[in-house]
Amino acid sequence: MSNEAKVPGLIPDLQVEFLSTHMGVFEAIGSDGHERVVVGHDPATGLRAIIAIYSTELGPALGGTRLFPYPSDDAALTDVLRLSKAMALKAAAAGLDLGGGKAVIIGDRSITSADLWHGYGRLIDSLGGAYITAEDVGTTTDDMRLIGEETRWVVGRSPEDHGVGDPSPATARGVIRAMQAVSNHLWKTDSLHGCRVAVQGVGKVGSALVELLVDHGAEVVIADINQAAADDMVERFGVKAVSTEDIFLEECDILSPCSLGGALNAEVISHLQCRAVVGSANNQLGTEADDERLAETGILYVPDFIANVAGVIHVAAELDGFDPELVDNRINGIYEAVLSILDRAEQDDLTPNDAAIRVAEDRIGREGNGVTFRHGGTRA
Ligand code: NAD
Repeated sequence: MSNEAKVPGLIPDLQVEFLSTHMGVFEAIGSDGHERVVVGHDPATGLRAIIAIYSTELGPALGGTRLFPYPSDDAALTDVLRLSKAMALKAAAAGLDLGGGKAVIIGDRSITSADLWHGYGRLIDSLGGAYITAEDVGTTTDDMRLIGEETRWVVGRSPEDHGVGDPSPATARGVIRAMQAVSNHLWKTDSLHGCRVAVQGVGKVGSALVELLVDHGAEVVIADINQAAADDMVERFGVKAVSTEDIFLEECDILSPCSLGGALNAEVISHLQCRAVVGSANNQLGTEADDERLAETGILYVPDFIANVAGVIHVAAELDGFDPELVDNRINGIYEAVLSILDRAEQDDLTPNDAAIRVAEDRIGREGNGVTFRHGGTRA
């Protein structure tokens, strides 16, 4: 890595290298317009971390820390740059006053220790709030607690540690707002009464969503590979359960993927009998082409990173001392965000996914260079 500038004394037990844009390392992977990338290395604990801040234009750069045994430093850098940009676009497109950032730590759980998290916490603290971390793949609420012993710039702790706890119910409320926007756009009504919704996956988010949908008078069909989870929904809400294959064949107004990513591929799309897709799952599209494929089939797809953004809203509120009214207002704002994305898509003859990226770029005030969310791995 060229042109690095050491910042001595900032964090005594960490060697920190600050890199700014247009340096060799970025040219190697394709210049991406990141505001700042920070590399933290602490040989004593084995910490090797990269924090990427894409933008703080709209607010502090919020994004989780991913612990992953990357095969090389380059792979880690490429991933963190991709993920941080995706977080920035997600927050901006959803109308949040947050920037976008992400961090990766190279390794697996075997390298973790209280000392490592403390050192990492000090690294985050040195950024003075420009970057706020949270849980992501490989990290836990307990890690966030340890990080929080060294910095206030962390969210996603458990309620016992003054955190806001599970974001799933909030995420489900956000999905409902996105569905109401779709209903308004397609059927000129915000009401979901009588709307037939097929929910694929009734875990933490899906089950909360089913409850809300039933409250709204929707007609709900569900599927889950976990029979007990499916049975529970049938028992509690009287909804119909079908097999995990048949859920994609259900004639319905809205299909709501709430399980794992990649549910929508060419084969599945060719069988869909819905008018819109609005779900919480991350990375619902199997490939980039599936976005266009859905549009060609006449199915309106609300980008997953907008439909599920309430998870981010919920954890971000930890910073403000969690004001439920404020959180509700922000979650309600997903409705307007989806409507403006759908309008933009119609106006500019774009897919909603591409329109969302344009909306985000307009808000951030600069053009992106083609990063998409389709394989973006954006996690709330
Ligand atoms: P979860 O693990 O609690 O629930 C997932 C459910 O999907 C489980 O019940 C599982 O049995 C089921 N499932 C798995 N494969 C399936 C299949 N092939 N067909 C049908 N069901 C299947 O997870 P969650 O927290 O509810 O999250 C669901 C999705 O939403 C994930 O993609 C997650 O990344 C995303 N998301 C969650 C949140 C949140 O607040 N929890 C926020 C943003 C995005």
